[in-house]
Amino acid sequence: MTAAHGLGWPGQPGQEGDASGDEIPPPAEPTGLDSAFAAAGSGQEAAGGEWPGGPWRGSEPADITAPPGPDGLGWPSAAAPPGPAAATATARPGDAAPEAAGFGAAGLGPGGGESDVVIPVVAEPVSDTPIARAARAALAARSGSPAWPRPGACRIITIANQKGGVGKTTTAVNLAASLSLHGSRVLVVDLDPQGNASTALDVDHRSGTLSVYNVLVDGRPLSDVIRPVAGIPQLYCAPATIDLAGAEIELVPLVARESRLVRALGGFDATGLDYIFIDCPPSLGLLTVNALVAAPEVLIPIQCEYYALEGLEQLLRTVDLVRSHLNPSLTVSTILLTMYDGRTRLASQVAEEVRGHFGEIVLRSIIPRSVRVSEAPSYGQSVITYDPGSSGAQAYLEAAREMAHRNVART
Ligand code: ADP
Ligand code: MG
Repeated sequence: MTAAHGLGWPGQPGQEGDASGDEIPPPAEPTGLDSAFAAAGSGQEAAGGEWPGGPWRGSEPADITAPPGPDGLGWPSAAAPPGPAAATATARPGDAAPEAAGFGAAGLGPGGGESDVVIPVVAEPVSDTPIARAARAALAARSGSPAWPRPGACRIITIANQKGGVGKTTTAVNLAASLSLHGSRVLVVDLDPQGNASTALDVDHRSGTLSVYNVLVDGRPLSDVIRPVAGIPQLYCAPATIDLAGAEIELVPLVARESRLVRALGGFDATGLDYIFIDCPPSLGLLTVNALVAAPEVLIPIQCEYYALEGLEQLLRTVDLVRSHLNPSLTVSTILLTMYDGRTRLASQVAEEVRGHFGEIVLRSIIPRSVRVSEAPSYGQSVITYDPGSSGAQAYLEAAREMAHRNVART
């Protein structure tokens, strides 16, 4: 790492660092970060708003490329004041100003011919500031390092709650993005005629586009409608169009109307995938029932609000009914508390009540209310790519990490 001095590479904690990078600790595993840095340095981000994704299996770069300076990420550059030694630098006429000498001297290196220029010992910066934490978090999220454990077989998870606006779609999109950026291959099946997940993932879903509607109603193979998500390798989406609004009725006279999706999944080779998230509409109609029949796992997002628990009983009854008649392996495996507002006592009371009732299936990570989370879809992005350092992105990353590790614990 010392070789990187003067290149803008983050200095190691406790090590004499150059000022441009000393807010940011070095990556624990250089390879993942390096790939992000290397590609970022190639100008991809600026060009297309896309950024290099995470550690793609088997594509670790062979050599270390110097990262670009941190300026673009918005943390203070050269923020650390010169250390005490800088004051003792022997200035001569024509020398650079002390500050410039202080920060430039590292580039001279030993044997630079300036024997009386003292390389300053830069004081260890206070790196535990909110902005430093956000910058570190953003780097970690972007690098996708470290990779999380992948399940032995594809996990199919239905995200359901018949209440609208509780964070189903937001959860589907952001868990999917988090997991795919950390080494998993993930498919989001949009089962809501509103197509919000398709919008957030920027996948075409104009009426008439091949979509989940054609899979359910016409019996088209699922593979015909799956599209890659731009900017996040290993993330895919089966979009929903408004045509799906008619499916609730069109499905009624069809044979095995509750099992159309599970049949489609049965005819689809999911061996290359680690997760399939099914985003449900806000109802307990045939579309949601299809999703419950198709998956062994249900994830219920619960909004930390007063009415949050209302209707939950009805959802759980529906899960029971589907389990006893159509899908014996169905379990509510995960509950995620969303839109938590730490300023209200009510939010913490709801969180406590949900934990008391559901116990350990409630993820420890709670998703806070965050403006960045609600802004991201209008840019056709997950919050993980839109603002990886934000509190919402960090909470979703943490929730996804928990899910990845919990599954390992179970198998
Ligand atoms: P659902 O799919 O259950 O109807 P959404 O995920 O679409 O719910 O969320 C409803 C609205 O709330 C959306 O506008 C979304 O952007 C916003 N939202 C979701 N989660 C958060 C959050 N943690 N903070 C702020 N806004 C959020
Ligand atoms: Mg939704």
